[in-house]
Amino acid sequence: MRIDVLTLFPRMFEGPMGESIIGKARDKGLLDIRVSNFRDFSDNKHQTVDDYPYGGGAGMLLKVQPIFDNIEAIKQERPEVTPRVILLDPAGKKFDQHMAEEFSKEEQLVFICGHYEGYDERIRTLVTDEVSLGDYVLTGGELGAMVMIDATVRLLPDVLGNNLSAQTDSHSTGLLEHPQYTRPADFRGMKVPEVLTNGNHKLIEEWQTKESLRRTYLRRPDMLAAYELTPQMEKWLAE
Ligand code: SAM
Repeated sequence: MRIDVLTLFPRMFEGPMGESIIGKARDKGLLDIRVSNFRDFSDNKHQTVDDYPYGGGAGMLLKVQPIFDNIEAIKQERPEVTPRVILLDPAGKKFDQHMAEEFSKEEQLVFICGHYEGYDERIRTLVTDEVSLGDYVLTGGELGAMVMIDATVRLLPDVLGNNLSAQTDSHSTGLLEHPQYTRPADFRGMKVPEVLTNGNHKLIEEWQTKESLRRTYLRRPDMLAAYELTPQMEKWLAE
C-alpha cells in the first residue's frame, strides 16, 4: 500500500511512522509512506499557505492552491491509481474500525492534515472522505492521520505476525474482546480462570464468547444494539 500525507509539519511523522508494526511493514516492503509539506507547493514567493477568511472571522484558513498542486503532483506519479483522499476534519464522519477495514483494501491513501482555523471550502472538492478522529478539536490533523494510518496498516495482509489477531480484536468482531491472561497462572492470589488452563477448546471458546458478550453489555451496550446475537447468546444475556 502507498500512503501519502500532506502536512505543514513533516517532522511529526519521523518517529512514529518508523517504529513498531508500521516500521516493520515498511521494512518488509508492504508499505510505502511519503510525507510532503504542502508549503513547498505554494506559488507565492513567501510560500504562504494561509490567509484571512472572506467575510471575517477568527484565525486563518488554509489556501486552496498549495494543497491542490500537491495532490495533483501525487496523482501524476501514479496516473493508473485512483487514491482515496482523506481530509482530516472535526466535522467529518467519525473514524472507526469499519473505516479502517475499508481503507486497508485501497491501493493508495492520501491524508490531508489541516491546521489553523481549517480549510478553504474548495479543498473539499478534491477529497473522497472527510474524517474526524472524535468529538474534540485538535491543533492539527497530524495526530489523527497517524492514528488512522496505524489502525489501517495493522489490517494489511502479513503486517501482523498472526493475521488472525486483527480479526479477533475488539471492534473487528462487533463485540469487545474477552479478558486474556498470560503466565503465571497465579499472581499474588489472582488466579487465571480455570477453564483457560484445562485445554478443552470447546469450553474455552464458549467462555471467551460469553465474556466478550458480558464485557460489551457492561461497557458498550450501544455496540450490542447493532450486533446480531445468536439464540445461545440471547440465552446467556437473559441469565
Ligand atoms: N475551526 C475548525 C472547526 O471548528 O471545525 C477546527 C480547526 S482545527 C484547530 C485545525 C485542524 O486540525 C483541522 O482542520 C483538522 O485538520 C485537524 N483536526 C482538529 N480536530 C480534529 C478531529 N477531531 N479529527 C480530525 N482532524 C482534526
